[in-house]
Amino acid sequence: MGGTPRCTWCGRSDGTLTHHLYQVKGRFGRRYRSIHLPVHPRHKPQLDREITRFNRFGLLVTSLIILLSGAITAVMMGAFLHGGVTAEVILFTLFAVSAMGVTYLIFPFATPTTVDIIGMKWSRRITRGLGGVLVLIPIVVLLHDDVSILVSTLT
Ligand SMILES: [Zn+2]
Repeated sequence: MGGTPRCTWCGRSDGTLTHHLYQVKGRFGRRYRSIHLPVHPRHKPQLDREITRFNRFGLLVTSLIILLSGAITAVMMGAFLHGGVTAEVILFTLFAVSAMGVTYLIFPFATPTTVDIIGMKWSRRITRGLGGVLVLIPIVVLLHDDVSILVSTLT
């Protein structure tokens, strides 16, 4: 994004920003690339910590999300092609959705575009919020009468 430089952590342009060279891994790769990021001196510790976490766990998180959404798609397609959605299919999907939610809660890595627009601090909050919703959905669904009756036919 062009224009006034904004703090990579809080997304604000006020005050004095310093530029620092970071080594950041790609979401899908192991290779580091060097980027200069503007940040408020007081927000540098948070940014340092988050980039370290991303470099360590970014690929793991991307793999987990791809694996879980792929599994959901495969199970759903299988269910629609062969005789419909069973209680097992519903339970598996709910489990996979909540596992995605837990992943986002523990590792709230947002897309670079989001970080670019609103800063890392708010991207993290939004990603955590999304994770919380994904964890809640299965609970709400399981509390729904029709589903709990369907699931009880499993046992
Ligand atoms: Zn800042």
